[in-house]
Amino acid sequence: MHPDTMAVHSGREDLAALGIHALPIDLSTTNPLPDVERGGESYEAMATGGRPPVDGSMVYARLWNPTVARFEDALAELEHAEASVAFGSGMAAMTAAILALCGATGRRHVIAVRPLYGGTDHLLGSGMLGVDTTYCDASEVASAIRPDTGLVVVETPANPTLELVDIAEIVAGAGEVPVLVDNTFATPVLQNPLDHGAALALHSATKYLGGHGDVIAGVIACSEETAEALRRVRAVTGGLLHPLGAYLLHRGLTTLPIRMQRQQESAQRIVQWLIDRPEVEEVFFPGLDGDPHGILERQMRGTGAMIAMRVRGGYAAASSVASGVRLFTHAVSLGGVDSLIQHPAALTHRPVPAEARPGADVLRLSIGLEHPDDLIADLAQAFAAVPSVVGEPGAEGFERGGAAEERSHELRGIR
Ligand code: PLP
Repeated sequence: MHPDTMAVHSGREDLAALGIHALPIDLSTTNPLPDVERGGESYEAMATGGRPPVDGSMVYARLWNPTVARFEDALAELEHAEASVAFGSGMAAMTAAILALCGATGRRHVIAVRPLYGGTDHLLGSGMLGVDTTYCDASEVASAIRPDTGLVVVETPANPTLELVDIAEIVAGAGEVPVLVDNTFATPVLQNPLDHGAALALHSATKYLGGHGDVIAGVIACSEETAEALRRVRAVTGGLLHPLGAYLLHRGLTTLPIRMQRQQESAQRIVQWLIDRPEVEEVFFPGLDGDPHGILERQMRGTGAMIAMRVRGGYAAASSVASGVRLFTHAVSLGGVDSLIQHPAALTHRPVPAEARPGADVLRLSIGLEHPDDLIADLAQAFAAVPSVVGEPGAEGFERGGAAEERSHELRGIR
């Protein structure tokens, strides 16, 4: 089936037998046990990562919830995966992947290809989860592999500057080591990492999957074997997705292909406008460089709707544009029906070490469902206010480089 059809029908296979049409929400925290024996067997099955036995019980919502499971089935189908496991946020999903594939296996080395979302970069580099991380380029993965490497982490298109990584090249370099692709920006509508050899496709479901800015969630599509390892971690650590969130995500999936198509069309229009603007130094968008390595053509079914740009005039100009918009909301996050703009170096990528942090002149735009002409008019009026601030004292603040402590001083005036 086409993704558009799957998005509407997946994960709803049991509804007709239940005599209902809309997705039901099961808020039970605990479930009746048929008897002690079958209750215990059910507990054992799920605590070890399996599904509830047919004649058993779901026991306790930290082990299983049918509303969450329906969303997981739908997402797995869209990602061409055997299974998927949902979590309370994208970061909870990333944490579970590291615990399942590194912590629980003793292979405590991670290879990470930058750029990555700032939170992921920070989590991997913090040592908080007891892993040792090597950051490298896509071409260096094979040489970075060690006997104790448990996971390779990449993001494509990458947050915030939309670099594309060749998933098949990474997988070849990784050999036996599982590759996790953060597929948040592309969504399963535009890219299926498992088709290119990745073992795990991770989403911050907070973004396009939910699509309306009202759910924080994460999900990982993978093999049933890996799903069992992830469910074991979820059962123990409790990084659950609430059933109300799962319901909203599942409902959100039905419009995901059409939202993505329309948002992408608008983004392409806005990119065409931006590249001719004197206020813009450089635009980052998949394929804008002519796709010299053919990654977009080979791996994706579209560009997506995220844009990044370098604004002429450095930090002062970028912060002026971010604060000067009226229709765009100046806010972090992305992938919703309304357009957002934010300054990655100051916010989403703030914890990233200076040498890998986006420049002070970079802004990231998430294009929503508004008419592109209205979004262009909004950017035009924000650009019009820029010359008055460039050249003023402090205009060169927040330059790339320098310790975090020094930056935090410069950052005080940001909002
Ligand atoms: N991955 C990417 C690409 C993201 O942009 C984000 C959040 O912005 C995350 C992961 C983390 O997801 P969450 O905020 O749902 O924890």
